[in-house]
Amino acid sequence: MYKIGFRTETNQNKQNDSTVVHKNTESARKSLVDVYFPDRHLTCSYYNDKFDLKLGDIVYVDGKLEGLRGRVTDINYTFKIKLSDYKRVISVADTGVTGEIFMAGSHFIANKPDVLPFEKVITWFKAPSENEEFVSSTDNEKFLLEDLKGLKISNSTADLGHDYYMENRVIYIEIKDGNVRAIVNGGKPYEVEFNYRNGEISGLVCNCYCTGTCKHEFATLLQLRETLRLIDKEYGDKFYTDYLAVINKGVFFEFVIDNKSNGSFKLT
Ligand SMILES: [Zn+2]
Repeated sequence: MYKIGFRTETNQNKQNDSTVVHKNTESARKSLVDVYFPDRHLTCSYYNDKFDLKLGDIVYVDGKLEGLRGRVTDINYTFKIKLSDYKRVISVADTGVTGEIFMAGSHFIANKPDVLPFEKVITWFKAPSENEEFVSSTDNEKFLLEDLKGLKISNSTADLGHDYYMENRVIYIEIKDGNVRAIVNGGKPYEVEFNYRNGEISGLVCNCYCTGTCKHEFATLLQLRETLRLIDKEYGDKFYTDYLAVINKGVFFEFVIDNKSNGSFKLT
């Protein structure tokens, strides 16, 4: 039972952390930071007064490079600048992960909700979108995950989705009380959502604005099916009840392990 107390404490710490990450903090020291954008092989300077940044932090900025992932490579606290000359750091990825991770083929899995929650993982791929309103609607199509023949999809889209699945582009899936959220790398990250209850899929939507079933959705279904089969085979049906997180191994190493100068993990 002692673990429950420990976990509650961890939770509180995490909540504080995410407050620091997402909200303006009075305590953040004004800094001028160099940010390296690997996609552009480019380093630029940004003004920051919102976050307590550390070297290696993954950040998103406003201005021309908005939406591109950058890494903090230098932090200066002594400077004098004309503020209007500088764009700002607008968010920091929350890459601190604690808890038990299990292996499942191409992906790692966790069965505790505080290890790899969607709200944390999505900060690795994009800045929080503010003042955006989303509307979605789905038909009442229902089908079994183990019988995808029930899914309406064109052959060409199914082929592309299968390629995505084989290329391990489904980088994250979370099942929480029957609601599934996934992130698929299709050049930029796409978010797929659906319900999964008693082996049945319903309410399938993706934010790529395609009409009908898209390759991101199909790839997610194939990955989920593979991972659930693996879990059943290797860990049994008691491994998870109402919560499961699935993450691509490469993504986990890139964001959680690389650039950390301390921390540990234990293999069994
Ligand atoms: Zn899509």
